[in-house]
Amino acid sequence: MEQFKVNEHGYYGQFGGAYIPEILHRCVTDLQEAYLRIMESNRFQQDFDQLLRDYVGRPSPLYLSRQLSERYEAKIYLKREDLNHTGAHKINNTIGQILIAREMGKTRIIAETGAGQHGVATATVCALMQMPCTVYMGKTDVERQHVNVKKMEMLGATVVPVTSGNMTLKDATNEAIRDWCSHPVDTHYIIGSTIGPHPYPDLVARLQSVISKEIKLQLAEKEGRDYPDRLVACVGGGSNAAGTIYEYLENEKVQILLAEAGGKGVDSGETAATIHLGRTGVLHGCRTLLMQTEDGQITEPYSISAGLDYPGIGPIHAHLAETGRAQVVAVTDDEALRAAYALTRHEGIIPALESAHALAALEKVTLAPGELVVLTLSGRGDKDLETYFKHEKEYR
Ligand SMILES: *Cc1c(COP(=O)(O)O)cnc(C)c1O
Repeated sequence: MEQFKVNEHGYYGQFGGAYIPEILHRCVTDLQEAYLRIMESNRFQQDFDQLLRDYVGRPSPLYLSRQLSERYEAKIYLKREDLNHTGAHKINNTIGQILIAREMGKTRIIAETGAGQHGVATATVCALMQMPCTVYMGKTDVERQHVNVKKMEMLGATVVPVTSGNMTLKDATNEAIRDWCSHPVDTHYIIGSTIGPHPYPDLVARLQSVISKEIKLQLAEKEGRDYPDRLVACVGGGSNAAGTIYEYLENEKVQILLAEAGGKGVDSGETAATIHLGRTGVLHGCRTLLMQTEDGQITEPYSISAGLDYPGIGPIHAHLAETGRAQVVAVTDDEALRAAYALTRHEGIIPALESAHALAALEKVTLAPGELVVLTLSGRGDKDLETYFKHEKEYR
């Protein structure tokens, strides 16, 4: 029996489910009933594989980092999702979901975005497929992430600044759900991570599982065995991590190390360490671990990395943490910046700040001598240059 994948009710242990308003019941059940059938169809598989290859640039390389291997006296490979079109793993999901939307006869796409990376990946595939696209983004984020807003607009999307709440990702998600409630028939909502009501966490994990499918083939070729001793990834909502571990979930020989954003420290009040601090609750359609106050109000997350500051976590990861299948460490801003500068100086790769959290997690565990590690570099650092420049003097 598979213990770590979604069950037939849409749950991972006690986490997951589909907590949705009545008006969305029909479109969520339609998606639940259609997604596996579509994903298993020849037409979908051909289109998805071809676009991943020729448009995204897959397979992404599995690169043996000499410097990290020497430093940790292990064998450390980087899975280079940073080399994908649009600079991160997010495009794997948006390509897959727009193909599913087309198959279901949907004619309009909506999405939420925090830092704008998922918004850009969604606007990109909407331009490719000539579908109208509306992206909800908190007003605070619109101001902070001007370049991504301009990119989305250049790609033809409408960006709607959201002024409710703290005007960040959580509020943008609420607004996207509200839009979906008003247009349930013609609109598909492309959720950007392994969050939301069932089937989204499973759907997104399956679309991102191309990462672990490739790791298997690449390791078999390079190492003569198709599994590593340990997989390492950062978790915001959890999609790049889910894709990295998907094919290995039931193989207990493979250890899983997840890095969440500690911000200024787990106990500082300025953090996004959801798994360390979270308690069970329901947000945006699923039951999961949430950072919340005593009386259940969601607390605003903080991380230097915009892609990791979500107050919840994908239900699959809440379950992996609860069962002990995954080890979860919290990485602070400072530790992530240090790791980002080290990779840049020693390998000539400027990583995304999110990915730098995964790199810094290596400091927090003891690797066995010669251990075979695959760490997913979820994205490139171009979007984080301003932040890096601001801290140049401290870390150079
Ligand atoms: C969005 C993003 C993340 C976090 O999202 P997950 O769903 O947890 O993968 C991580 N890395 C990069 C580069 C991102 O853009």
